[in-house]
Amino acid sequence: MFGADAPHLRILRLLRDDGPVSRAELGDRLELTRPRLLAEVDRLVAAEMVAEAGMAASRGGRRSTLVEIHPRLRFAAVDLGASSIDIEVTNGRLEPVAAYREPADIRSGPKAILQRVSELLAKARTDGAYQRLDAVGIGVPGPVSFRDGVPVSPPIMPGWDRYPVREVLTREHGCPAVVDNDVNIMAIGERHGGVAHSIDDFLFVKIGTGIGCGIHLGGTVYRGVDGCAGDIGHIQVDANGPVCSCGNTGCLEALFSGAALARDALAAARAGDSPALAERLVDATELSAKDVADGAAEGDVVCIKLIREGGRRVGGVLATLVSFANPSMIVIGGGLAQLGHVLLAEIRSVVYRRSLPLATGNLPVVLSELQGRAGVSGAAVLASDMAFEQAS
Ligand SMILES: [Zn+2]
Repeated sequence: MFGADAPHLRILRLLRDDGPVSRAELGDRLELTRPRLLAEVDRLVAAEMVAEAGMAASRGGRRSTLVEIHPRLRFAAVDLGASSIDIEVTNGRLEPVAAYREPADIRSGPKAILQRVSELLAKARTDGAYQRLDAVGIGVPGPVSFRDGVPVSPPIMPGWDRYPVREVLTREHGCPAVVDNDVNIMAIGERHGGVAHSIDDFLFVKIGTGIGCGIHLGGTVYRGVDGCAGDIGHIQVDANGPVCSCGNTGCLEALFSGAALARDALAAARAGDSPALAERLVDATELSAKDVADGAAEGDVVCIKLIREGGRRVGGVLATLVSFANPSMIVIGGGLAQLGHVLLAEIRSVVYRRSLPLATGNLPVVLSELQGRAGVSGAAVLASDMAFEQAS
C-alpha cells in the first residue's frame, strides 16, 4: 500500500484520464527520473494494470513506446437512489461498456437491493461487458462511514444502518469495493468529467427527493467526522415551517424538495389557484415536480412562484455556505434541476445578493453537466482510485 501521491498512482490516473502516453512524456509530466519511471511502468505492465500501445511519433530524438491503461480493466459503478438503481460497467478509461437503470425502492432493505445489483452485474458479465471486475464503487442516499464502508443512521434507508455494504460487495465480486454518499459521488463525477472539471473548490448541491451538498475542497471531498458533512437539507430555514422527515420543523427540504413541491402543487391545484396544476390533477391522484416544471414553462403563475420560492430558500442556505467556504463554483444537480433556469436564476440572485461581495466576485452557479450520470461517473472514479491504490 502506498500514500495518495505514490508514483504508480499518479501514472495510472494520468493514463486513465488522458489516454495513451509515451514513457518519455509520462516522465516529463510527472517529473519522475527516467530509471524511476521505467521501473514503475514495468511493474504496472507486469501487474496487468498498464499495457504497451505501440510506438509514439518521434520527438526528434529516440523513439519512445506508448503505454496505456490496460484494456482488460473493468470497474462497476453503482448509484443507489431513493427510488432507483443505476449501474455502469466501465473500462479502465472510465468509458461505459454497459449501463442499466431501473426503479427500486431503497426501503426494500440492503439484502434485496444488493441482490438486484448482483443480478444486474451478472447480466453485464453474460452480455460480455467483463470477465472479472477490478473494483466496485457504490453511492447510497444517506450518510456513510467512508472508512468502514457502511451507511450510518441513514434516515430514508430502514435496515441499512451499519450494514456491511463494502464487505458484501468485496466478497461477492472478489475485488476491492468503496462506499460513499450519493451526493459525494456526484461531486466527484462532475469534477472528473463534467462542468467542474479540474476545479478544486466547489459545492455540488443535489436537489431531489431530499437536498444534500457535496463539499469538494482543496481537491478532495470533505466528508466530516461521521460522514454526514453537507447534509444541508436539515438546516432549519423557518422555525414555524412544516415538520420534516427527520422530526424537526422547518428544515430546508421540508420546504423545498421533490416531496415538498409535490405537496404544495397538490394544495395549489385543489385550492383552484393554478389552472395548469388543476388540469393535470384531473387525470391523476398526485402531482410531481415535473408537473410544476411543465406548468411554469406554460407560464402558470403559481408554478413559477413555487419554483422561485424554493430557489429563494436554497439560495439563502447557499449564501451562508459561500461565506463560510469561499468555493469557486456551485453546481446544481439532482431531479429538481429539471426546474431549470427559473430555479437557477432565483438561486443565483439570492446567493449574489446575500454573500460577501469578495466571495461572489467570480462565482459561477451552474447546472450539472452530467445530470443523471453524475453519480455513476463518480462511483467509477472512486472504484478506479481504489484499484490503483492497491496495485503493486
Ligand atoms: Zn429535517
